[in-house]
Amino acid sequence: MKREKGLLIVLSGPSGVGKGTVCGALREHDTHIRYSVSATTRSPREGEQEGVNYFYKSKEEFERMIHEDELLEYAQYVENYYGTPRQYVEEMINKGHDVILEIEVQGALQVKETFPEGVFIFLMPPDLKELRNRIEGRGTETKELIDNRMSVAKDEIDLMDKYDYVVENDEVELAVERIKAIVTAENCKKDRLIHLYKELVKE
Ligand code: 5GP
Repeated sequence: MKREKGLLIVLSGPSGVGKGTVCGALREHDTHIRYSVSATTRSPREGEQEGVNYFYKSKEEFERMIHEDELLEYAQYVENYYGTPRQYVEEMINKGHDVILEIEVQGALQVKETFPEGVFIFLMPPDLKELRNRIEGRGTETKELIDNRMSVAKDEIDLMDKYDYVVENDEVELAVERIKAIVTAENCKKDRLIHLYKELVKE
């Protein structure tokens, strides 16, 4: 299929909705989609690995990255910084690979300013009780942090309107299928392709 550049896919949704799990499953299904690893100042959770889950940075290192314009977007979330290293994303897209960013809403809105042609997907839990259960079930956060995450989650859901698609994560496999369908459809969008096909007619 013809393509010039890859898609920039932004996946957001409230903390605990299962973005990580869905992204992981998506990567297993569709090895063409590249996953952007974020930088963060939060400490690694048990089992997380440098360069796989995040690039773990000190506050000073993160602020240096901001000042040197090394981040495509960044946000402060609960008590930490999170940001997307620019170089990897730009390189992949320019080579024609689709790239997925799993980021919170403030960052997604910044990406929308610079990449309006991106595909913005909001992942929703079936209900909010389920969300709290999932955050608690992780067992990694204190009660205060869980309350903070729940309050941020509600604010995030208010911003769903800024996204192009809503995908419910009732079951991981179903959510993955819906995202794959969106990516396929977006890759066939006439506005992304028409100039390439018009070239054929000219020849
Ligand atoms: P967690 O601490 O649970 O790994 O992530 C907290 C929130 O930060 C999640 O909503 C996650 O999607 C978001 N996040 C992860 N990486 C980035 C990033 O590079 N930029 C922004 N803006 N948010 C991120």
